[in-house]
Amino acid sequence: MDYVIPATEPSTVPVIGGGLFPVRRIFCVGRNYAAHAREMGSDPDREPPFFFMKPADAILLPGRSMPYPPATSNLHHEIELVLAIRTGGHDIAAEAALGHIYGYAVGLDMTRRDLQNDAKKTGRPWDMAKGFDLSAPIAPIQPAKPDFDPNRGAIWLDVNGTRRQQGDLADQIWSPAEVIAGLSRLVTLEPGDLIFTGTPDGVAAVERGDRLSGHIDGLPDLLVKIA
Ligand code: MN
Repeated sequence: MDYVIPATEPSTVPVIGGGLFPVRRIFCVGRNYAAHAREMGSDPDREPPFFFMKPADAILLPGRSMPYPPATSNLHHEIELVLAIRTGGHDIAAEAALGHIYGYAVGLDMTRRDLQNDAKKTGRPWDMAKGFDLSAPIAPIQPAKPDFDPNRGAIWLDVNGTRRQQGDLADQIWSPAEVIAGLSRLVTLEPGDLIFTGTPDGVAAVERGDRLSGHIDGLPDLLVKIA
């Protein structure tokens, strides 16, 4: 291929058992846990969850420190279950949706909350609040297996050993299958897409030097230091 500048290699995430998962796009669900929707000032009974995106190269690989990003003084953690899509499609039925998943991971939807609050006030896009460089730390992907159920299980985040967020996957407003069904009505999903499925309540700011430890029952933990 006659590329006029060097083509970029895809972002990848290591997989438990070997190999690399090539990342195509990163979709995120907003306000998928009622208690978090309320702490953000909205009413989950009136406003359903919704989608936004991060660039594929926003991935922060396991074991790497996250540089404190520019243009913020209020960097927030959001611990989330991540779905890794194996087979794409559009108008995927919820009943068939879990069959499109290659595996699962623990991820962080890091957020420049001050920029997001400004964007909400002015009605502007969230991209610079959510999609900045290295805004998507992720643990290794666990390939799907029968004994992992993405509809229940503890999800929590510790900062410097103190519990900040604690919830259960059963509290998701849209289940992972419903997320895939709904998103595939808006866009055609493709192999390599990642979906961050939203965060429980307890989001708060981190500082340089903080050590974040994220957990979902049955998946490899996510450990990130803010540099
Ligand atoms: Mn989020």
